[in-house]
Amino acid sequence: MTQAKIATLPEEANLVARTLRKEVLEMSAYHVADAAGMVKLDAMENPYSLPENLRNELGRLVTEAPLNRYPDPQASRLCAALKASMQVPAGMGLLLGNGSDELIQLLALACARPGAKMLGVEPSFAMYPIVARSCGLQFVGVPLTRNFALDTTAVIESLQRHAPALVFLAYPNNPTGNLFAAETLERVIRNAPGIVVIDEAYHPFAQTSFLPRIAEFPNLLVLRTLSKLGLAGLRLGMLIGAPCWIDELNKLRLPYNVNVLTQLVAERVVASEDVLAGQAAAIRAARDELLAKLRNIDGVEAFTSHANFILFRISGAGRVFAGLMKRGVLIKNLAGAHPALADCLRVTVGTAPENAAFLAALEQSICP
Ligand SMILES: *Cc1c(COP(=O)(O)O)cnc(C)c1O
Repeated sequence: MTQAKIATLPEEANLVARTLRKEVLEMSAYHVADAAGMVKLDAMENPYSLPENLRNELGRLVTEAPLNRYPDPQASRLCAALKASMQVPAGMGLLLGNGSDELIQLLALACARPGAKMLGVEPSFAMYPIVARSCGLQFVGVPLTRNFALDTTAVIESLQRHAPALVFLAYPNNPTGNLFAAETLERVIRNAPGIVVIDEAYHPFAQTSFLPRIAEFPNLLVLRTLSKLGLAGLRLGMLIGAPCWIDELNKLRLPYNVNVLTQLVAERVVASEDVLAGQAAAIRAARDELLAKLRNIDGVEAFTSHANFILFRISGAGRVFAGLMKRGVLIKNLAGAHPALADCLRVTVGTAPENAAFLAALEQSICP
């Protein structure tokens, strides 16, 4: 239900403006498109649900969950299960967040000394600059090359010029879908004066990781999430790194940030991780099929992806996006998000029928 908004009076606007931080006043709220009734291919969600027997078991767990009690503040059982499942190298620490977004915010809060900077590449995940600014860090964005590779020289120059406390690199990158060369990332990690976070949100679809090498680099943290794997609604992110970092960040974490239901459900699903691994394998196969089909369409330039989405360029992207909407298919319009994304759209890999519906609607939208 939408509620009629009450108009703000000038004296109220003044009160707000002289009370809140300027960074907050200058922000706009994160917008999520309404997907009711649409084929929803806009948010990198896993299109499959869990098998019925597992869902029934989760139902029982939820029924018996002690909702009157605070959750385990350390989420010890879940941490142990996740460490085993992710094969976290011995001696490394693990910090859980209410989604990896919360961990990005925690890192920014911890590094927000006066004048501190966060460095990222552009285009990349929208939350990095949003979180940086909201926590009072200056965001430095280094453009990717024309084919979305990391511009090593530019990044290293920028590291020297700006000495960022934090560097965020998504591996694979969102929204471009590519993996930066591992040697390049290694050079960035070695040249960074502060923390480098390799954000592996799409690890299930890329199957390559810096996690096994984390002990090689004292300033490296690896970020993962269950969201793209199939539990976006549960909100669980994982940050892995040396205890000297994790123990400090843990002081900033609000004590009960991972709720009782998330802890119980995640622990149970992780015990059946082969289910999600099977779904990820199906998504990888469907991605490659969808990429081949997109490349067969005249006027579509589709970029290679190691994630569960595909970025493509098409002239008149805004019109094509609207045509898809009209035909009940919601994807993401990135035209306008960054100059390098002119005429670019991003589609999440769905089920076979969803992908077919998208392709049919795309062809109709190109030649209406
Ligand atoms: C989706 C995404 C996230 C956020 O994941 P949550 O765990 O759902 O907060 C983080 N990083 C990248 C690069 C993403 O694309």
